[in-house]
Amino acid sequence: MSYIEVKDLVFAYDEGEKVFDGFNLAIEKGTYTAVLGRNGSGKSTLAKLLCGILQPVSGSVCVGGLSTADEEQLYKLRRSCGMIFQNPDNQIVASVVEEDVAFAPENLGVPSAEIRKIVDEALSLVGMTEYAKHSTYKLSGGQKQRVAIAGVLAMRPQCIIFDEATAMLDPSGRRDITATMKRLNKENGITVINITHYMNEAAEADRIVALDGGKILLDGTPEEVFSEGETLRRAKLATPQITELCDALRECGMPLKKGILHTMQAADAIENYVKGL
Ligand code: ADP
Repeated sequence: MSYIEVKDLVFAYDEGEKVFDGFNLAIEKGTYTAVLGRNGSGKSTLAKLLCGILQPVSGSVCVGGLSTADEEQLYKLRRSCGMIFQNPDNQIVASVVEEDVAFAPENLGVPSAEIRKIVDEALSLVGMTEYAKHSTYKLSGGQKQRVAIAGVLAMRPQCIIFDEATAMLDPSGRRDITATMKRLNKENGITVINITHYMNEAAEADRIVALDGGKILLDGTPEEVFSEGETLRRAKLATPQITELCDALRECGMPLKKGILHTMQAADAIENYVKGL
């Protein structure tokens, strides 16, 4: 069984049209997936279904073998699969960084010596150790978001879902959070799902699931997905700027491969072409 299994999902808000109508998705443990889609494609609804904030009309949503429909398991499910939302201010509950991170384990009655260890570990994982005694109010958006991530890490989760978690951050905050996601996945084996509309962020994942109107438009590695420039443009989704530049050069006759995602990759390909002239 996959870590996340969405089967034959049908979902609509009250009297509204169906957002999902027979949607299927499987995500394996320890993977890093970006869910991409323009506004209204169903990304946030999917995130809320995954953590049981919303319930399917029919079909099933299982996370770590637990069904979101099983109310008794929902608490366990939310502990093993944390969520980070767009606005860090809504997720910070205490005025001092380390108190904020300690909030969840304290509420769970974890002994204080162990809390100290959990908090230190969590802050170190997000690179915020030196801010342990700082006021949460004075942090930048990116730092607040890292504290929010540490708060989730204090629950020792297997998976973290980031729902447009970088949308309110400046470019440097966005880079911090994207790097943190990658590190948590690669070094700590945490399953990461990053719901985003930033192409450059999606390019960092190992797999991209692109949604359009509640359906999977494309599903593959970033190279595979961003090779489908035409399909993405039709769905009003862009490719990363560097991929677009290489697509334009290819149209002008330069034989560059499709799905180039990084500046250095493009520079090498162009250099090789020029050397061969
Ligand atoms: P995204 O996160 O990709 O922008 P959403 O999941 O927010 O997409 O929206 C998917 C669809 O559900 C859209 O048509 C949107 O208008 C609708 N929708 C989202 N939230 C609500 C809500 N609370 N009530 C009614 N319709 C909603």
